[in-house]
Amino acid sequence: MTATNSIAIFGGTFDPIHNGHVHVISEILKSGKFSKLVIVPAGKPWQKSPTASASNRLEMTKLALSEIDVEVSDCEVKRDTPSYAIDTVHDLHSLNPESSLTWIIGSDAIAGLSTWNRIDEMASEVEFLIVLRPGHTVDQSAIPHFIKWTSIEIHARDISATQVREKVSVGSDISDLVPPSVAAYIYEKKLYGAA
Ligand code: ATP
Repeated sequence: MTATNSIAIFGGTFDPIHNGHVHVISEILKSGKFSKLVIVPAGKPWQKSPTASASNRLEMTKLALSEIDVEVSDCEVKRDTPSYAIDTVHDLHSLNPESSLTWIIGSDAIAGLSTWNRIDEMASEVEFLIVLRPGHTVDQSAIPHFIKWTSIEIHARDISATQVREKVSVGSDISDLVPPSVAAYIYEKKLYGAA
């Protein structure tokens, strides 16, 4: 049963978005737990240095998800300040004041959770849903005690954006790793050292 007024947020650098992300999105939709899923490419990620520009990453995200029933938000790309999740939570709360919010993260991201800007404030406004990622078990000792969280097994695919960038840079095939529209965009814009 779909929960009414329950929004899931999936943020990321998406440098580029890949089939591992798309799989997470499809499985979250299939779970029926949320009335809406909002995908948020980071504008100025403060813990990563993206290779592609924010506008290219946003465009690839839109292309990859054009036929999937989700909303792609440009709120972090439009913001001038570093892309803190808490600011995105506030933006989405003011747009959807009646909704509860759940922030989705991969299990690899748990290790850095305690360093997130205003994590205590964030914890009072969202629940976390941890997606198990191959090779990254849920390290409960790294999860701040004040956070409300659950985890979900979605048989995540062992794909990373790093792998995609590396393959493009050496001219290897990426057709198993990203949607065709994203591969075409990467080659058209010559991203990641594409020839
Ligand atoms: P990079 O390789 O550049 O570090 P990435 O593949 O981890 O990138 P991000 O855009 O940084 O991609 O990830 C956004 C979110 O998606 C994070 O919460 C991350 O844990 C999660 N995620 C990324 N890839 C997968 C995957 N294959 N399966 C499940 N979750 C994933």
